Amino acid sequence: MQKDIDLRLSPQQASDLDTIKTIFSAETGILYKDIESVRIIRRSIDARQRNIIVNVRVRGYINEQEPQIKYSSIEYPDVSNAKQVIVVGAGPAGLFAALRLIELGLKPIVVERGKNVRERKHDTSMMSKEHIVNPESNYCFGEGGAGAFSDGKLYTRSKKRGNVEKILNVFCQHGANTDILVDAHPHIGTDKLPGIIEKMRMQIIASGGEVHFNTRMDSLVIDDGKVKGITTNTQQEFDGAVILATGHSARDVYRMLHKQNIRIEAKGLAIGVRIEHPAHLIDQIQYHSEEGRGKYLPAAEYSFVEQVNGRGVYSFCMCPGGIIVPSASGEEQVVVNGMSPSNRGSKWSNSGVVVEIHPEDFPEYSEYGELSLLHFQEYIEKLAWIHGGKSQIAPAQRLYDFINNKKSSNLPPTSYTPGIVSSSLHEWMPLFISSRLQEGLKAVGKKNRGYLTNDALIIGVESRTSSPVRVVRERESLQHPDIEGLYPCGEGAGYAGGIVSAAMDGERCAEALAFWLQAKS
Ligand SMILES: Cc1cc2nc3c(=O)[nH]c(=O)nc-3n(C[C@H](O)[C@H](O)[C@H](O)COP(=O)(O)OP(=O)(O)OC[C@H]3O[C@@H](n4cnc5c(N)ncnc54)[C@H](O)[C@@H]3O)c2cc1C
Repeated sequence: MQKDIDLRLSPQQASDLDTIKTIFSAETGILYKDIESVRIIRRSIDARQRNIIVNVRVRGYINEQEPQIKYSSIEYPDVSNAKQVIVVGAGPAGLFAALRLIELGLKPIVVERGKNVRERKHDTSMMSKEHIVNPESNYCFGEGGAGAFSDGKLYTRSKKRGNVEKILNVFCQHGANTDILVDAHPHIGTDKLPGIIEKMRMQIIASGGEVHFNTRMDSLVIDDGKVKGITTNTQQEFDGAVILATGHSARDVYRMLHKQNIRIEAKGLAIGVRIEHPAHLIDQIQYHSEEGRGKYLPAAEYSFVEQVNGRGVYSFCMCPGGIIVPSASGEEQVVVNGMSPSNRGSKWSNSGVVVEIHPEDFPEYSEYGELSLLHFQEYIEKLAWIHGGKSQIAPAQRLYDFINNKKSSNLPPTSYTPGIVSSSLHEWMPLFISSRLQEGLKAVGKKNRGYLTNDALIIGVESRTSSPVRVVRERESLQHPDIEGLYPCGEGAGYAGGIVSAAMDGERCAEALAFWLQAKS
């Protein structure tokens, strides 16, 4: 027999399965000796009060063995001789689309401009050490997409639980720890993600699909309102319907779509800075204790949203125990983002702090039409490059100095390895953004004593929070309304934000495409 119960435990109790078994026995009245084992099937930390509580849902196995398989495994058929579909981009959207196509009996041809995930590491380290940005292989481009060297946080605001679980199951089938099926805030870690991504690629190939690295789609081949395939920089042409999953940093793709008169729309996004505190300080604030996280708690997380002069100011992609990384994808850009290893063990905790912006906020860019916020992103990333070291050295300011419009005379140590230089971000960032950041941070500081400190740094700029463009698609069919067989997909097309939602959108596009092909035949 199995029985599930909810328990509120101290961090120490929650860290030991034998203690949980004893409590389970006491709560249910079931004899300890009859309980074969207990398993945590959901876990979340409630840190609102001084006494931290870990809420767990526990499944007890009474007079029966705990089953071995903790995720449902998918059988991928051989699709070598099936109809082919082109998937452009091997980020989460593209990889999950490809695997779902296989499940549905179609052969994915994945075309990825960057290198495989192992070779990518060389290029990301060249950014840190030599300040060289390879425009085809960096933190945004290459196998695994922007998700590969990310924090690997797998939570999403999506309420579609079944779909989220499916994505987490696929991750487990390819090597992720089954803890992700349990945690309220699942996290894989940048050290583990590459191995999982490799296994997903191997599955695609083993099932008869194809994966082409160093192959950039340069244009869509369109004939009479129908997509026929793509051309690439390797002079190879691929035929078939297209899932366009190129991510939010492929500006050349947006420009190509614009030039090919394929309907796109300007879309709002959020821009700001990354803020970095000593991890211990965030632990102290969040866990209300001088001791910080202690022995039994993980590095603390936080999130906030404030409204300032009609615009949201919010934390974005918080990385407890993480590092800040250079996320530019081209020359003369400085862009920062965050990630963390699975143990979240670095000395720092960082988070994006960004201001919501809409195309109408910057009328001076309206001449660029649908590409207006893309041009604004380019402008602010270039400003960060100019005010940084004209390299990957990023402009930075102590937090309290920023709030008080003061240039920092020196800077504390940082996790950002390319280096930082003191700069007056309050002066050169557009006032629309800097003034809201200042007010938003002041409001957060009032609610969280210790947060507004000169031991914290802000580093510019966090500009790749989402896509500045939406590639339009029909609600039901998910096809582009003007081009048959074209499926805009994932974050780059404006339909996802984050690894799980991009993966879910990849699966949806694969399903819609399979349905359309079947209806046609
Ligand atoms: C440093 C960092 C940390 C992050 N941390 C998290 C996190 O912890 N949790 C989370 O949920 N999200 C995180 N994100 C965001 C997350 O990575 C993205 O939301 C997600 O990867 C979007 O998936 P996607 O497949 O739509 O696009 P992408 O991951 O951007 O993938 C697009 C792919 O398309 C390829 N491509 C582009 N143009 C072409 C072309 N012309 N031809 C062929 N290929 C092309 C690119 O090389 C890339 O591999 C992070 C992002 C970064 C940069």
